[in-house]
Formats: sequence, structure tokens, C-alpha cells
Amino acid sequence: MYIRSSLKKKSIIALSVYLTFFVAVLASITYFVVQSPIRTTLETNLDIKSELLAAEIKSPLDSASSTLGSLVAMAEGNTNIDIADTMLRRLFSPQGSIVVSGGIWPEPYSVDPDVRLASLFYNRSQSGEVDKIDLWNNPQSPGYDIEPWYTSVKHTAPDTVMWSEVYIDPYTHVQMITASSPYYLKGQFAGVVTVDLSLSDLVNYVNSRAQDHGLGIIILDGSRTVITEHNYRLSRDIYVSELAFGDFDWSIKAVNARKGVADQVFEIVTGIEIAIVPILLLCVMVGYYLINRYLINPVTQIARKAQESRLGGTIDMDYRSLDEIRSLIDNFNRKTMYLERERVKAQASTNAKTAFLATLSHEIRTPMNGVLGTAQLLLKTELTLEQRKHLKTLYDSGDHMMALLNEILDYSKIEQGRLELERVPFSLSSIIGSIHSIYHTLCVEKGLTFEVTSTVPKDRWYIGDKARLRQVLFNLINNAVKFTGQGSVQVHISECEIDGKNTLRMSVSDTGIGISSEAQKRIFKPFEQAESGTTRRYGGTGLGLAIVKQIAKAMHGDIHVHSAPGLGSTFEVTAELSQCEPQKTEAAIEREGNYQGLRVLIVEDNKTNTIIINAFMKKKGFATHSVENGELALKALDEQTYDLILMDNHMPVMDGVETITEIRKLANEKQHTLIFGCTADVFKETRKKMLGAGADFILAKPIDDRILNDALHQYSEKLFQFAAARVHS
Ligand code: ADP
Repeated sequence: MYIRSSLKKKSIIALSVYLTFFVAVLASITYFVVQSPIRTTLETNLDIKSELLAAEIKSPLDSASSTLGSLVAMAEGNTNIDIADTMLRRLFSPQGSIVVSGGIWPEPYSVDPDVRLASLFYNRSQSGEVDKIDLWNNPQSPGYDIEPWYTSVKHTAPDTVMWSEVYIDPYTHVQMITASSPYYLKGQFAGVVTVDLSLSDLVNYVNSRAQDHGLGIIILDGSRTVITEHNYRLSRDIYVSELAFGDFDWSIKAVNARKGVADQVFEIVTGIEIAIVPILLLCVMVGYYLINRYLINPVTQIARKAQESRLGGTIDMDYRSLDEIRSLIDNFNRKTMYLERERVKAQASTNAKTAFLATLSHEIRTPMNGVLGTAQLLLKTELTLEQRKHLKTLYDSGDHMMALLNEILDYSKIEQGRLELERVPFSLSSIIGSIHSIYHTLCVEKGLTFEVTSTVPKDRWYIGDKARLRQVLFNLINNAVKFTGQGSVQVHISECEIDGKNTLRMSVSDTGIGISSEAQKRIFKPFEQAESGTTRRYGGTGLGLAIVKQIAKAMHGDIHVHSAPGLGSTFEVTAELSQCEPQKTEAAIEREGNYQGLRVLIVEDNKTNTIIINAFMKKKGFATHSVENGELALKALDEQTYDLILMDNHMPVMDGVETITEIRKLANEKQHTLIFGCTADVFKETRKKMLGAGADFILAKPIDDRILNDALHQYSEKLFQFAAARVHS
């Protein structure tokens, strides 16, 4: 298994989620905790601020009241007109004062019985000069004594102060307010004094204060007329601080213009989080470092090492803490070592099995070789029909037993993963030829049509394991013939490219009994047959297709079956095979009887085998000489030159491998003698050992005449190396 996701990533995600969650919870808690006190504080602050503003508005207005008081005192003191002029000019001159004008307004005719209107009205201009304004004393005018600020205080109690509503001065166009008070002479109402206050400076001042405090304000006079308004915006849930102040019955309404409670709370929450998040982040990082160091890193390392040690080997890691991780490592290592010991044991028992099979194969095949060879020899003699029939049965049964034995041995070899494919050039036509020669007659005998078609060029050569390829085809055709009662068996061979690799596709079709789809799933497994009665009716071990599949897989190919009960079957096998140049083939020498004059030394301890091989070789024209062991062989070679040595392996005194080694060490030309190792061992080790010692070719026992002929043909040059010299001498 490949590790696709990483623990590190997961832990980072987990910690990020944790951090986000924590920040969110912290923010929510902070919000709810601080929201209420902040709201209260803000409201109190707002009240204080609006009170402050009210006081700041009130104080200049109150100072105007005292100016009004001075005017009353002046009027009631009946001051000399010149002195009054000087005093009034002084009274209105202070720059910055909100009192910009005012005066004394006597009752008509009270100062001079001839003069109706005798007001003393002074006004401070923009430049700061105080001028006396006589406009109100115009005899043509209706008189100031009908003005509301006059009539409103006429005959009222001394010290009464009346404030007018806010109005716009027609001359200066600024907001003004007038305060008036009556004055009395000798207990008699004598007139009115007034002061006019310019509100523009006050309004500007109040607005700038509101701005500084971040307030939205609105100031209303006694009749609810707006005197000034600054940023006064009402919104849902906003707190309005409302306050009435002064004798003049003004009121102020204030709101927090810049920041609402929510903003303020948000600011506080943000502030807290800005302070706390880095600390939290640091904690998370430290946490991650610790988790990483004590948990993730060791686990990651264990996973990597375990991955690396898939084929055995322990986890070699420096981890000292005696915790669960250490226990995990120790247990893993203990188990691995236990498994390794078991594997070694299993390997040893497999090796023992292999050795046993090798011996078994030798022990059974050697006498079988005798049985089959003798039968073969007998078949070549003159016999009655009856005898020939019995002998044929004997031969066929022996042959079948040999085939079964071979299959069992072959499969056990493959099962042990010891299927090693050869890489030798061979022509496809040689395989097709042998299929033809073997199965044509067999099919004809059974009344079946046999057809081999091929779209592969006739002169195609491949590099690969010819014997195994032939085994595959023979197995499939054998089955096809075996399970077909009537109709045909067809073999089709073609080439194709799979994944850019040259692939040989071989299909074997028959019109036989077919295989049910349920059985199709089983038949490639060892010892599985489609029907339970198959062995009884048709024979077989149930190993053939399992072997074919293994071989096809080893050749980077595969096998598939298409079949329906009663309709026949088609097996299709593919095998990756690289093409090669056709190899030089000398014109086939006459395979039999052309070895006249050649000498063969047969080295074989088994008497029966010696007789059989002797007879085989004699039939081919060889002059034969046989010895029982390697030592005698060396002796014979010392006395005589041989063109070919057939060397058995298992022999007393000196075995085949040792003898071949000695021959190849000879100091004369005899060291080059052609040697064919003959062995009943199906295992590659024996073959390898003999080839390693210097054998030219290995013949499997029982010796197949065709293979022997092929080998003699293939090594004809070496076979005839001494013959030419003999002819000349
Ligand atoms: P066996 O030695 O029994 O032939 P195989 O492995 O070669 O073993 O085949 C397994 C089983 O598959 C056979 O026993 C048979 O039931 C079925 N089978 C194989 N080839 C064919 C075929 N051409 N037609 C019908 N059945 C087949």
C-alpha cells in the first residue's frame, strides 16, 4: 500500500480547525461579556458629554444674563447720558463675547415729554467697533415699545428675564437670541433693557466640540425649533441622551456619531484577539512541534521503515521513550523476526521438498526410462499383432505415467517460483511443424478435422523459450483433442502489438464438450477440473492449464477462455516474444544413419539405460562404447578419441559434473569433445551444474529421439571435428 495522505497534513488541518474554533469561541464569549458593560459605559459617557455641552452652551448665555443685570442697574441709576454712552460702549466692546448688541429702551416720553422714542441701542460690528444705532428712535416708526421682547417684560416683576426665540438677524443674517428685562424708577415701570446674543460662534463652538467628542447632536430652543444640528443620525437601538437646560428652556439631544456599541464592542473584541491570537498561534505551533516530534515523526518514520522492510527486516530506529510507540516498534520487530524464522524454516522445508522431488524424479524416472526404452526397442522388433498391441498398451501407460509425473514435478517447480525461461533463437515454423506431425494423425485417428493456420510470416524467428511455448500449445491442443468427440480442432497463430511489445497470439478452438461459465473460473487453478468425473472419463491431473497460465504470465502474456457447454471452447494465449533474424540452418543433414564412423562414449551406471541408449545410437550409425562411471570414462578417453560423450550425472565413483570438469581440463584436443549431459532431474540446478562444468547440451531422460536428433544436428560441427582428421590419416 502506498501512503497517500499524510499525518502531518492532517494534524495541521486539525490544529487550524482548532485555532479557528477557539478564536470564534473567544470572540463570541468576549462579545457577550463586554457588550453590556460597554453599552452602559458608553451611555453614561454620552450623558456626561451632553451635560458638558449643555453647560458649555449655558455658561455664555448665563454671562449674558449678568450683562442684562448690569444694564438694569445702569438704567435704574438714571445715569447721565454721556456716562451711559461710555459705559454701554464698554459693556459691548469685549471681543469674543457672544453679546453683540443691546441697550436701554425707556418708556415712550419718559425721558423727555417731547421725545417719544429715546433708546440707547449699541451694536458691535464685525471689526469690533461699538456703534450707537438710532434706527429704533425714528419718530415715524411705530416704536420699539410694541416689539414682543418689550411687551413680554413690560410691568413684569423686577429681575424678570425673558428669552426670545432664536431668530435670524435681518442685517447680519446670523442666528440671534434676545434676552429682555424690565427696569423701574421709583417703583414705576420705566422701560426695558435688552441684550442680543449672536449664536453663530456658539453654534460653531458646540459643533466643533461635538465633532471632537464624536457626537451627533441636535439643539432645540423652547419652541422646539432647531438651533443647530450636527451629525445627528438615529438608527435602530441607538441610545439618545436628552437634556433640557437653562432658563431659556433649551434642550440637547446627543448620540454617539462615530461608534455605536457594536463598533465599540467589535473594536474591543478585535483588540483582545489581536493580543491573544499571536499567543494562541504560538501555543498551537508549540503544540504542533510537540505532537510532531513525539507522535507524528516517529509514526511517519515507522510507516516508512515498515514500508521499506516489506520483504523482511526490522524497524531500526532510535526511539528511547518507553511508550506505546516503542512497544509498537518492538512488537513489529519481534513479529518480523518471528516471521523471518518461520520463513527460513519454510524455505528449509521447501528445499527439503525440492531435494526430495529431485531424488524422487530420478528414482522413478530412471526405471521408467528402462521400461519405456525397452518397450520402444521391443516395438522395433518383429512381433505378432497380439504382442504388439499389448506392448503398445504397456508403452502408452508408461508414457502416460511419465507425463503425469512430469506435470506434477513441473508444477511444483513453477510453484516454487523457479520457472526460468530460456532466451534462445527458434523458428515458429519448427513449432508449427511439430504440432502438425503429432496432432494431425491423432485427430485423424479420432475422426476430427485438425487445422493449423498462421498469419505470421513463415520465416519468423523469435528469441525465447521454445520448449515452454511448445508446452503451452501442446497442453491446449491435448485438451482440445481430449475433450472433443467430433468436429474439429483448430489452431490459429497470429502476431499483434500489446503496449508496443511484439506479442504472439495463439488460439486453440474445438467443437468439444465445452465448459460452463462457473467452471471457467476454476480451471486455471491447480488440480481443478470442470466436472468431478473428468479424471475418470478423460484422465488428467487438473494441472495443465495452471501450468499454461503460469508460463503465459512469465512470458508477460495471459490466457483466456471462451466456451459454452456443448458448443466447444476457444483458449487464447498471448506471449511477449521479440523477433530476431532467422538463424543459419544448414541443409538438414540426413538425421538418421549419417553418423557412420563416429564414435560415442556412453557413460551410464544403469544397465537398462545403457542398453537403450546403446541401441538408439547404434541405429544412428554410431560406434558405441559404454562405461559405468566417470573414472572409467576418463580412462576410455585416454585411450581413444570420441566424437560424442553421453554423460549421466548420478554415478558411483565419479559423477557426471566431476567427469566433465576433468575432461575440459585435459591438455589435448580431447578436451573439446562434444558432451551431452543426460539427466532425469527436471531441476535446473543439475542442468546448470552440468552446463557450468562444460557440457554442450543437456538431454532429459528418457531421451526423446527427436530432441537427440535436433541436438546432433545443432552441434554437427563439433560432432564432426575429429572425423575429418580420421579420414585423412
Ligand atoms: P487436465 O489434466 O484435467 O486436463 P487442465 O488444467 O488441462 O487439466 O484442465 C482443467 C480442466 O479444464 C479439465 O479437466 C477440463 O474439465 C477443462 N478443460 C480444459 N480444456 C478443455 C477443453 N478444450 N474442452 C473442455 N473442457 C476443457
